[in-house]
Amino acid sequence: MPFYNASYIYYNYNVNFTYLSTKINYLGQSDQILIKKAYDYAAKAHEGQTRLAGGPYIEHCLQTAAFIADLKLDAKAVAAALLHDVVEDTPYTLEQIRREFGRTIAALVDGVTKLGHIRITRQWLFIKNEKEIKEFDRQVETLRKMFMAMAKDIRVVIIKLADRLHNMKTLYAIPENKRARIAKETLEIYAPLAYRLGMGELKGQLEDLAFPYIYQEEQFSLKKKVAGRLERKEKYIRQLKGILTKKLSQAGIKAEINGRAKHMYSLWQKLKRYNGDISQIYDLVALRIVVNTIEEAYKALGIVHELWKPLSGRIKDYISMPKFNGYQSLHTTVFAEKGEIVEIQIRTFKMHDRAENGIAAHWHYTEKKGGSDYLKRQIDRVPARELRWVNELARWQKILTDNREIIDSLTMDFFSDRIFVSTPKGDVKDLPIGSTPIDFAYSIHTDIGHATVGAKVNGKMVDLSHRLENGDIIEILTKKNSKPKRDWLNFTKTSNARSKIKASVEKTPLFKNPFTKS
Ligand code: MN
Repeated sequence: MPFYNASYIYYNYNVNFTYLSTKINYLGQSDQILIKKAYDYAAKAHEGQTRLAGGPYIEHCLQTAAFIADLKLDAKAVAAALLHDVVEDTPYTLEQIRREFGRTIAALVDGVTKLGHIRITRQWLFIKNEKEIKEFDRQVETLRKMFMAMAKDIRVVIIKLADRLHNMKTLYAIPENKRARIAKETLEIYAPLAYRLGMGELKGQLEDLAFPYIYQEEQFSLKKKVAGRLERKEKYIRQLKGILTKKLSQAGIKAEINGRAKHMYSLWQKLKRYNGDISQIYDLVALRIVVNTIEEAYKALGIVHELWKPLSGRIKDYISMPKFNGYQSLHTTVFAEKGEIVEIQIRTFKMHDRAENGIAAHWHYTEKKGGSDYLKRQIDRVPARELRWVNELARWQKILTDNREIIDSLTMDFFSDRIFVSTPKGDVKDLPIGSTPIDFAYSIHTDIGHATVGAKVNGKMVDLSHRLENGDIIEILTKKNSKPKRDWLNFTKTSNARSKIKASVEKTPLFKNPFTKS
């Protein structure tokens, strides 16, 4: 059985700057010059380095930047994408980048570098029972939050996602014992974040790339199961497209109509809900109608229903009731020609761009006034669990809509009262702002708290009263039979640590009684 299916390789060998330069025409001349400068700098820094997949290292930087350019983000984001591995993987320092490219680009590079330290540890690859799954879900949700909290600038998240996408495309070249961990991380952290940011296309790609590395046999048998059916369905969809094109143009509606095969991983997830019965999956290939205006979208829906009878209960109006991540479309499932059941999605070009690119779509759309009111209305319809994300998304959207310049200073104070820190092995703890290594030690285990004698933060020794920051990696040094000190109470923040320190020091007298024999 082939482990790696060639259809997953999108990788372009021997890309050079020309590859990127054709994608940055949407930017002004000075912006393009900045990007060329960043390219030259990165090429020099990575000179002589090669990727495990073969080819010079700079290709990875170019592919990451090309993705950012395809999303039409600003020039600083493209430049930072080119430079994203310079600090981590070359002798060049962040300070040098700051001097050469300024504060913003340096901050973006720094952010991307830091996000690289958020990891799922290998132990989670072997979880089995309910309890472990629960614990894993909790950890992973914290990791996702840590990711967002550390990123501060949304462009950092998008660059990191682009970086991960290219790494997934070349994952086959990574030593086998590392692949599963990276794929799992992609599935559990990166893909859900892409989804929450409304980047549906990226989410689908990330999942499909990770799929065979984790569920090898399942992916293989699903591909086999789907192959013939998919082809037949695509042919059928082309037929429907012909009929629809005619009807819509008769009604004076200009539309782009396409068939779209469902992503493999999401198909697999859906099949599990339908007990593996593929005949129940109506959107294996969905027909997508993209039109100019919302009025035309509803009109097109009418035309579809006039042509083919809809299945009851399958009409979904995500235009007036968008999904929590901002997704908008009309969905309907109809009995089309020869009674075959087909899902049809109708949306405007703008909605289409957003469905594919989500938050990133806002860089090249300047929305008219009223857009943010609209978002407010949609928030009312979202379940509470997802509300925080929507609120945040809406806030970003509003900021980006109202004032493009603010992008530069866009920070997420989403988790402003909490910080996320981790052990060297990647176990994440969230603590209140102002917490110290002592708080951290007690959050791991009371015995570790009690036995603490020192701490290293990001590899450097610090005072026990040192204030921890988002993303810090903390190593606690312990000594057997060591006892908590009363003065720890002067700088511990969490009630957990404080109560345990108090309980312990109250048992120990303040001064040794000189009259008792020890
Ligand atoms: Mn990279």
